[in-house]
Amino acid sequence: MKAIVYEGPNILNYKEVPDVSPKPQEVKIRVKACGICGSDVHGYLGLTGRRIEPMIMGHEFAGEVVELGEGVTDYQIGNKVAVYPVDFCGECEMCKKGDVHLCLNKRAFGVLDVDGAFAEYICIPAKSCFKVADHVPYAVGSLMEPLAVAYRGVGHAGDLTGKTVLLVGTGTIGLLALACVKMKNPAKILVSDLSDNRLEVAKAMGADIVINPGKENFKEVIESHTAGKGVDVAIEAVGAVQTVQQAMSALAFSGTAVWIGNNKQMVEINMQEIVTRELKAEGSFLYGYQEFETVVELLNSGRLNVYPLISEEITLEQAPEYFKKLAQAPGNLIKVVVIDK
Ligand SMILES: [Zn+2]
Ligand SMILES: [Zn+2]
Repeated sequence: MKAIVYEGPNILNYKEVPDVSPKPQEVKIRVKACGICGSDVHGYLGLTGRRIEPMIMGHEFAGEVVELGEGVTDYQIGNKVAVYPVDFCGECEMCKKGDVHLCLNKRAFGVLDVDGAFAEYICIPAKSCFKVADHVPYAVGSLMEPLAVAYRGVGHAGDLTGKTVLLVGTGTIGLLALACVKMKNPAKILVSDLSDNRLEVAKAMGADIVINPGKENFKEVIESHTAGKGVDVAIEAVGAVQTVQQAMSALAFSGTAVWIGNNKQMVEINMQEIVTRELKAEGSFLYGYQEFETVVELLNSGRLNVYPLISEEITLEQAPEYFKKLAQAPGNLIKVVVIDK
């Protein structure tokens, strides 16, 4: 079969690799869609130590079941599935508690030296598959994983009914968080980013007000749309100094910030503002198995509008060229998805 193999910093090759066949309790999947994640691009540049060559990346994927390993009874050939990209043991202390995402023996597909889905086929445990409805395009199915990240983040903000919510940053996670916020009946959604193109996508996905802090006074715009009070909830999906500061400074008294962005280690924030305004900040990281289950249901129900954030659908062969583009000059690209055309 063909795959994209990471063979060292800046080296990604489209080549023939050995075919795979399912072990007991596994299914073989024809990969129909696999998204390029920011962490893949950083891995490709050799910056994170989280990709050990030679390996195949790709952890945001959906596909069609083409072969069943021994003992698989819940799936049939032809099933359309999205994949929880973690193999968990089911036996360890954490798994027994139900926290399979913290499994002590977990293997994450497309990370470290475990092969992922930038390939024609992949074998994965049947328990990591989720059935996707016929009406959901494979490309949208491949968004389940980042969607689960966004969904968990938004969950930290609690009930959003009637609240004013600010999203800082419109990368994949920021925009998917927007889709999740939209579903929770807020009074108003404000979105901030330095790219007008991304803000247009945010509008298409339901943002009420968009702010470009590179061109307008961030604080003034927030105040003018919140009767001078600030927002109830701010969701930070960048992880840079300025954006964390923006999220905090936009909050109303006793407001809550959720930090999903994960970039900088040290960020200076105005502590006095947090103390005197009784602000809260909560971190959010990855997702659990149950959140994955929930987002699959939400997408299957048609309640989430996420398609606008897919900028381009490319072939496996084109992927190395797009990694380069995303690393050097992403321009207007948000989510690029490799599709089996
Ligand atoms: Zn990812
Ligand atoms: Zn385990």
